[in-house]
Amino acid sequence: MSVHINTENDDIAVNNFRTYLQIRTTQPDVDYASCVAFLRLQARQLQLSMQVIDTVPDKPIVLMTWTGLEPDLPAILLNSHMDMTKIIKEWRHDPFSAYLDTNDQKIYARGAQDSKCVGIQYLEAVRRLKISGRLLNRTIYITFMPDAEVGGLEGMYRFVRTEQFGKLNIGYALDAGRPSPNYDIAVFTGEKCFWNLRIRCSGNLGDGSLILANTAGEKMTGVLKKFFTFRTAEMQKLIDNPEWTLADVVTMNLTKIEGGPQRNMLKSEFVLTFDCRIPLGTEDTEEVHETMLQWCRDVADDVSIQYLVREEQIPPTETDDKYWEVLKKEVEDFGLDIHCETFPGRTDSRHLREMGIPVVGFSPIPFTPVHLHENNEHIETLYFLKGIKIYYNILIQMGNLP
Ligand SMILES: [Zn+2]
Repeated sequence: MSVHINTENDDIAVNNFRTYLQIRTTQPDVDYASCVAFLRLQARQLQLSMQVIDTVPDKPIVLMTWTGLEPDLPAILLNSHMDMTKIIKEWRHDPFSAYLDTNDQKIYARGAQDSKCVGIQYLEAVRRLKISGRLLNRTIYITFMPDAEVGGLEGMYRFVRTEQFGKLNIGYALDAGRPSPNYDIAVFTGEKCFWNLRIRCSGNLGDGSLILANTAGEKMTGVLKKFFTFRTAEMQKLIDNPEWTLADVVTMNLTKIEGGPQRNMLKSEFVLTFDCRIPLGTEDTEEVHETMLQWCRDVADDVSIQYLVREEQIPPTETDDKYWEVLKKEVEDFGLDIHCETFPGRTDSRHLREMGIPVVGFSPIPFTPVHLHENNEHIETLYFLKGIKIYYNILIQMGNLP
C-alpha cells in the first residue's frame, strides 16, 4: 500500500470518527436514530450486511456481519456502545464539536475514549482489510449497543438472551476497555460485582419542637457512621498499598437520601441508597451482606436492607488460550505490552461473560491519560490511528485461527 493511500485512509478514519462523535448520544436523551443512519452508511461503504435489532422500542442494537470463508468456525465479536455519559463539568472545548486541536492533534469529545473510538477503529480496520483484499476464515460481527452506560439491561442484557444471538456462535469477543497512560495496555478480564441497596430507618413521628426518642434521624446517623467507618478503612488500604487499584477494595458510597416532605416535622422514615462494588474473587459475598445487616441491627432491630440490584460474581475470562496469545503478540509487535485488570465499573462485557463467552475489555490506545466519564475527554489522532493498525493485525490473526 502506498504512503498516499495510507494518508487517505487516515483522513477517512479521522473524519468518520469526528462525525460519529458529533452525534449527541449522551444519556438520557440519546440520538440513536442518527447513529443508526451514520452506521448504515458505513456498513454500505464497507459492504458489510447490517441489521437493526429492536428488543426494546427506540433502543436499536446494530449488528454488522462480515461472513468468513469458513462460517462454521466460531465467530469474533467486536463490541462497542453508542450511548455516552452525561456532561457534568466545564470543558475546554464543546464536547459535541469533536474539536481537533491542530497543534497537538488531539480530538476532544464525549465518547472519544468511551467508546466511539473503538467502534470506528473496528470499522476502519475492516476498511483496510477489504482494501488490501484480505479475506478471513472466521466471521466477524461488529455490534453497536444502546444503553451500556445505564447498565445495558435494555441493550446487551436482552440481546444475549435472543435466539438470534445464540446462532452467532461467538468464540471470542473484544469490548471497549479504556486508554492506557503509558505503553502497557490494560486488558479487562473481569468486573467487580455491583450491588445497589436501600436502607430504611424509621422512627417516631412528631412536631419539630420536641425531643423524641427512637427517631429515624438517629438511626440514619448510626447507619451512616458504620458505612463511613468501613469506607475510610478501605480508602486507607488504597493509601497503604500504592499498587492496589479500585478493583481491589470494596466501595460503598451513599448516593441518595430520601425523607419526609415537611420541614418542621420529625420524619417517620429516612431511606439511604448505597452503591456498593465488591472485588472480583471475594470468596463469600454473603459475608459482605451479613456484615452490613449486622451494622443495621447494631443500630436498631427495625433497620432493614432492601436490594435494588444484587449481582452474583461472574468468573473472569481466562487468559491461557490462543485468543489471548494473539492479543499479546500483536500488541507487543507495536512495542507495547498488555496486562490484565479487573474493571472497577460496569460494562456490557459482563452480560457476554455471563453467557459463557470469553470477552476482554481492550482499547489499544497507549500513552493517553484516562478521561472516561470525565471532562475534556480526548484522544490523540496518532494513537487513535495506531489502534486501527493493531486491530488490523489482530483481526488477521484471530480471524484466521483454526
Ligand atoms: Zn463508560
